[in-house]
Amino acid sequence: MTQYVYFFGAGKADGNKDMKDILGGKGAGLAEMTNAGLPVPPGFTISTAACNLFQERGSLSPEIEAESDRALARLEKLMGKTLGAPADPLLVSVRSGAKFSMPGMMDTILNLGLNDRSVLGLKAKTGNGRFAKDSYRRFIQMYGNVVLGIDKDAFEHELSAVKRKARARADVDLSETDLDQVIERYEAVVKKLTGSPFPQDPREQLRGARNAVFESWMNPRAATYRKLNDIPHDLGTAVNVQCMVFGNMGNTSATGVGFTRNPATGAKEFYGEFLQNAQGEDVVAGIRTPHPIVELGKVMPEAYKQLRDITTRLERHYKDVQDFEFTIQDNRLFMLQTRNGKRTGVAAVNIAVDLVQEGILTPREAVMKVEPQALDQLLHPIFDLAARAKVEVAATGLPASPGAATGAVVFTAEEAVAWAAKGKRVVLVRMETVPDDIHGMSVAQGVLTATGGMTSHAAVVGRQMGKPSVVGCGALQIDAKARRLRVGNSVLGEGAPISIDGATGEVMLAELPTSPSEVLQVVAGKLKPERSVLFQKFEQLLRWADEVRRLGVRANADIPRDAKVAFAFGARGIGLCRTEHMFFAEDRLPQVVAMILSAARGQRGLDLVRRLQERIKEARGHQVADLRKELGAVRKEYGKAIAEYTGALKKLLPMQRADFAGLFREMHGTPVTIRTLDPPLHEFLPKREELMVEVATLKAKGAARNARVIAAKEKLLRAVEELHEFNPMLGHRGCRLGITYPEITRMQVRAIFEAALQVSRKGTPVKPEVMIPLVGHVEELRRQKRIVLEVAAEVLGKGGSGVDYLVGTMIEVPRGALTADEIAKEADFFSFGTNDLTQMGFGLSRDDAGRFLGYYQEHGILEKDPFVSLDVEGVGQLVEIGVKKGRAAKPGLKIGVCGEHGGDPASIRFFHGVGLDYVSCSPYRVPIARLAAAQAQLEKPSGD
Ligand code: ADP
Ligand code: MG
Ligand code: MG
Repeated sequence: MTQYVYFFGAGKADGNKDMKDILGGKGAGLAEMTNAGLPVPPGFTISTAACNLFQERGSLSPEIEAESDRALARLEKLMGKTLGAPADPLLVSVRSGAKFSMPGMMDTILNLGLNDRSVLGLKAKTGNGRFAKDSYRRFIQMYGNVVLGIDKDAFEHELSAVKRKARARADVDLSETDLDQVIERYEAVVKKLTGSPFPQDPREQLRGARNAVFESWMNPRAATYRKLNDIPHDLGTAVNVQCMVFGNMGNTSATGVGFTRNPATGAKEFYGEFLQNAQGEDVVAGIRTPHPIVELGKVMPEAYKQLRDITTRLERHYKDVQDFEFTIQDNRLFMLQTRNGKRTGVAAVNIAVDLVQEGILTPREAVMKVEPQALDQLLHPIFDLAARAKVEVAATGLPASPGAATGAVVFTAEEAVAWAAKGKRVVLVRMETVPDDIHGMSVAQGVLTATGGMTSHAAVVGRQMGKPSVVGCGALQIDAKARRLRVGNSVLGEGAPISIDGATGEVMLAELPTSPSEVLQVVAGKLKPERSVLFQKFEQLLRWADEVRRLGVRANADIPRDAKVAFAFGARGIGLCRTEHMFFAEDRLPQVVAMILSAARGQRGLDLVRRLQERIKEARGHQVADLRKELGAVRKEYGKAIAEYTGALKKLLPMQRADFAGLFREMHGTPVTIRTLDPPLHEFLPKREELMVEVATLKAKGAARNARVIAAKEKLLRAVEELHEFNPMLGHRGCRLGITYPEITRMQVRAIFEAALQVSRKGTPVKPEVMIPLVGHVEELRRQKRIVLEVAAEVLGKGGSGVDYLVGTMIEVPRGALTADEIAKEADFFSFGTNDLTQMGFGLSRDDAGRFLGYYQEHGILEKDPFVSLDVEGVGQLVEIGVKKGRAAKPGLKIGVCGEHGGDPASIRFFHGVGLDYVSCSPYRVPIARLAAAQAQLEKPSGD
């Protein structure tokens, strides 16, 4: 029989830390701490499997209900009390907890079991009426909100009214009789808004709370969070029912949260906050400002010492930073939660390397500890120091998540999204953030809040997203309704410039230029590595990663500057150089346009001339004269076009040669894959509509005066119209260009080999790899390859002049993948172009998919954007087929990937699994790819 309910208490638990799938993170942690003999209030966990059954049926089965009743009976026996009993009630909390923690997503209910009678029992038993009433009013509030769906404001309104009447400043100033009034008003609110009195039966309360936890799994906030964090929807949440301990029993009681190390920087320091005479979420809710945890040592030295001992032990036990929650009831410490702490990317790197140095982790374990994506945060900009020195700090808050953020002030998540959609940089300014703000936070440069501490929602989520965040900035007076922010004497409206420094907590009322991160500065040679401890740790971690990974990591780089960065980040080779990117430079575009305008006629003319020349060679007698005459006519007709075409190509040749030479030099003898021209030619020309407007304007200004310009523009316009395609992505592009305009391929390949020769003669080894795009049929590759070999022989001579080169192809058309065995016969290597493969595999234009892809993800048709993370089940099959067939025809065929997916950790895991030799990604993702490739190997070792 499947077990659905797991007990913990009296030093023994049914579960343990490895059962997160079933018990959720919180339940597994409570079980593990119980087994370790730590002071944990006893209770039981209802499993995630029960949650999934609940989602299916809408209720729990009688068997699970019975199992849960037995667990409650056991708990009652252990505590010697009955749930909600009038004289001396057992009270419990009901806490959600999924496998992955979701801050603020699901709400905890405390003090369950209280009702109009048991509250008096609690008072009698503890001799503390104020405490009993405070607990009851909190329970009504939480239960009313979470289970009965009553807006928090409805309760807040009544509480404020009583506070005003009593002239109380804070909740803690309310007397027992004040609290009686609060309870009365709360009960009236419940009656009015639900039509029924507040539920008095403790078991009904428990069922209601439990079901609400299960239901909350599917609420939109939780679903959004899961989507943002790639958490599957069918994991389910567990429910923890746990005996209450009370931090609100007076000043010898407290509640708090903390970390064993600083989660923002990774520094080894005890870190956290607490509040005396408080309960549950008071610390993080931002209602009262909590105290730094070290001060606990002064007010409750015994409990503090015990807390330090326990948490240090927990860190060693879990081999990771712990994020813990505790409550002190009358000087007695209880642990309520422990989990591996969320941290910034900077902290993650520092902590992983430190834990190895402290002998807690092995280097391999350290490699597994850092989320590859988190490395991105180390590459975030910091403020330009000179500019920063010139502006004053307007206010200072808590430095919750490092990084420099600058942009326009917005006051709501919706505004943030709207401004960001227009390409504006924004800083989201809120009293405090709530889970509903997540979409706004994710598009903002940074987040600034007026209340809340280092563990508030904004801080936790900010760190996790790697968003620069400053929280608890008390100097801000925010009026979100009026869209106004007052800081000292300044008043800012929506759109006003603001900057925040998430590492110092400083707020500046100006837009500030930012400069690259420390790591980037070292990479760019502006900072000595010895002067950056962070860089050294970053390097150390990646060196450990390099020791284990099997996949090679290359970069997609088009120009020498990017290649240099890529090499410094550890790329050993270029997997894709898009030659066309060089064509867009200002000094080249005119030549490119000239080439395009003359290409069709120029190429045709050249072909005719060549054919006639061949025939003349073989001709006899009077035939020769006839052919010569014909040749003369062709020359006359096409001569100008040919001259323009070859002239433009001749001008482009040295430019391309110089670019390629730069790439070869920067890559120091590692392979450099250069792709021949790929995009449809019209991409290089102005837009049809723009040209039409220009022509019309010129004519209006005086057709006669502007005749020459008009004629040129009209010629361009005709060319644009001729090149128009209905479906350019499936049109005249890729190798189809090189096949119909072989002169272009010839020029590009000549530039490659001349550059190779030039650089190798200077003593730098070179490894050019010529790559033909968009091959769907082997014959396409065969023809382009013939040109490459011809030009290579011409440039390098018979012996090759010591330049080893390869000719390969992209596999990016489904037919190419399906006939990879044929294609492999002609190819020295394959490189999967997963962008096009996804477009064509799905029949989904990347440029048009924006209109519905969002809907698809929101409505669960697609889990992820297939252009970001490879669609393993579908497009992945094309990759697998390509690899299998390619290697069957040519064992050991070198295969890589150069689509965007080459820098996505989940996709990298897949590429590792199907046996690719390397991934290639943008230079800034190279560190991420190195780490992800190492993790893939550690998870699933393969190869040598
Ligand atoms: P979250 O997942 O949002 O952190 P928790 O279930 O951890 O929610 O509950 C939040 C807080 O409620 C805890 O940090 C703790 O202070 C308080 N709490 C939960 N259960 C108990 C309990 N049994 N006794 C006392 N306080 C509790
Ligand atoms: Mg918690
Ligand atoms: Mg492509």
